Amino acid sequence: MKIIDQLRGDTMGLSCELFPPKEGGQLANALDIVHQIAKREVDFISVTYGAGGSAVGKSVAIAAEVEQSGVPAMAHLTCVNATEASLEKTLDELQARGVRNILALRGDLPAGMVLEHTEYRHASDLVKKIKSYGDFCVGGACYPEGHPESAGLDDDIEKLKYKVDNGVDFLVTQMFFDNAILYNYMYRLLAHGINVPVVPGIMPVTNARQITRICQLSGTKLPLHFRAIVERFADDPEAMKQAGINYATTQALDLLANGFKDVHIYTMNKPEVIGGMLDNLSHIVRRGKVTS
Ligand code: FAD
Repeated sequence: MKIIDQLRGDTMGLSCELFPPKEGGQLANALDIVHQIAKREVDFISVTYGAGGSAVGKSVAIAAEVEQSGVPAMAHLTCVNATEASLEKTLDELQARGVRNILALRGDLPAGMVLEHTEYRHASDLVKKIKSYGDFCVGGACYPEGHPESAGLDDDIEKLKYKVDNGVDFLVTQMFFDNAILYNYMYRLLAHGINVPVVPGIMPVTNARQITRICQLSGTKLPLHFRAIVERFADDPEAMKQAGINYATTQALDLLANGFKDVHIYTMNKPEVIGGMLDNLSHIVRRGKVTS
């Protein structure tokens, strides 16, 4: 199923992100996580992709397993250092294995990898390629707090408009912890003529040290009231997990109540995290009619 059709439907839901095991890691573990999550009612499962093409086989295999388990898969695909031939090979594999949804990304060149191919400089180039190559539903990334490399939020949104005009069907946001930031961003997108559906991405924080690092890398801000929670429970893993799931549930509830059809959960491969949120929202997701 194409994600854009779900987003145009009338039910609300949660989707989640998985990442393949690192070099030498067990693919079987990741496939087991797919099955644990697929038992729950999630809208779709996305599978990340190592920029520069590392572990591409595992990403495709996991996305295919998601589809096999009856849940729509969204395969991430990056274009930094890619060639026309390498992209077409991956697109052919995805198509052959029934994956119809792709999140088109530029990616960041991994440390130590030399840039050899510059045919695809921006995600917008990849969007155009995928749309002309096959019958795929294509998502793009967007950044409510601005992409770290951009000159500013308006500049970033102007570039985003170009990406959307190249064929993006829907957008998935970088994580944020304050919904007001997203609502402000939505006004700015509309002002720039961007009106494709937006899927907010949120992360239930279960590891205080990890979130500090992620925020430093992505430029995401932790609001003071949430920082207090992280600092208070940092040394108690079970308490931190419960607090993280509850904070993310409150965020998701507010987003669904305000008209978003799907909220994407950055689960860090923990089935109990998406499971906890689905339990908290069991009378809301996959049933509730969106009235506006
Ligand atoms: P782009 O849309 O190309 O934008 C990158 C920068 O270039 C921005 O500053 C933008 O303003 C600027 N720009 C865009 N177009 C132009 C133009 N035409 N001219 C000049 N400047 C331009 N990374 C991975 O490696 N694997 C993943 O699986 C992955 N999944 C992600 C999922 C989500 C939801 C998000 C938000 C990010 C993900 N990333 C992933 C990280 C992403 O690859 C990085 O943030 C990367 O730096 C930018 O990718 P992009 O697709 O947003 O790039």
